[in-house]
Amino acid sequence: MRFQGKVAVVTGSGKGIGKSIIRKLVQEGALVTVSDLNKETCEETALEINNSGGKAIAVDGDVSNSVDARNIVEKTIEAYGKIDILVNNAGVLKDSRIKDMEEEDWDKVIDVCLKGAFLCSKYASAYMVDQNYGKIINISSRAYLGNPGQANYSSAKAGIVGLTRSLAKELGKNNINVNAVAPGLIETDALKSHPKYKKIKDLQKKDTPIPRIGLPEDVANAVLFFASEEADYISGDILHVSGGRFG
Ligand code: ADP
Repeated sequence: MRFQGKVAVVTGSGKGIGKSIIRKLVQEGALVTVSDLNKETCEETALEINNSGGKAIAVDGDVSNSVDARNIVEKTIEAYGKIDILVNNAGVLKDSRIKDMEEEDWDKVIDVCLKGAFLCSKYASAYMVDQNYGKIINISSRAYLGNPGQANYSSAKAGIVGLTRSLAKELGKNNINVNAVAPGLIETDALKSHPKYKKIKDLQKKDTPIPRIGLPEDVANAVLFFASEEADYISGDILHVSGGRFG
């Protein structure tokens, strides 16, 4: 029970990797805020947690909107009186080759994946500074190394590395650790319903030193490590959860 009495917010936790992270935090004692753009999955996940003996509130909202981002933090403070852990996980994909990438596709991905992490960190860290305690974990991606068809997503996820390292340097004196997890290919529902799922999975097996696809739990385990006291002397770091595959 590494997180007994700790308060954690996970953005984009209505489903997928975010949901896996929040479930594991609850299993280890955390009181949580489930946040997602999708009100339905957000409330469902919180209900699931409350029905199974955990404690969760649901705060839906768009992390790229400063009013919503502030509200996610404020509602957490109202419910629990503090915020110990922030996981910036909300994300969106708008893949295409650069010749077809519309300006809106660029803006959307940068706004949600990068600006959203900035806004939530800004509002949460104000409380963390007052508490002299905090753990911020940003979800980057192996894509930060560059991926064809993902100029927007790769740039946002590379931006996350810069954000992580800058905030680590700014906030270390306030006893706030800021780290990032960079997952490789993860078996999410979106991937499972991809028309080329089987082919993608086979290729991943062939090209990855640990020859399998990653699981949401693999990412969650790395996030929980950064959120825990075991990582108290680690900040500004990027942990790859990619089966040993880089680039
Ligand atoms: P994965 O399965 O890789 O975690 P998903 O797309 O399922 O990927 O998860 C991303 C989560 O982020 C989704 O639940 C989605 O609703 C959420 N999300 C997307 N855009 C926003 C946003 N602007 N604000 C908050 N959450 C968002």
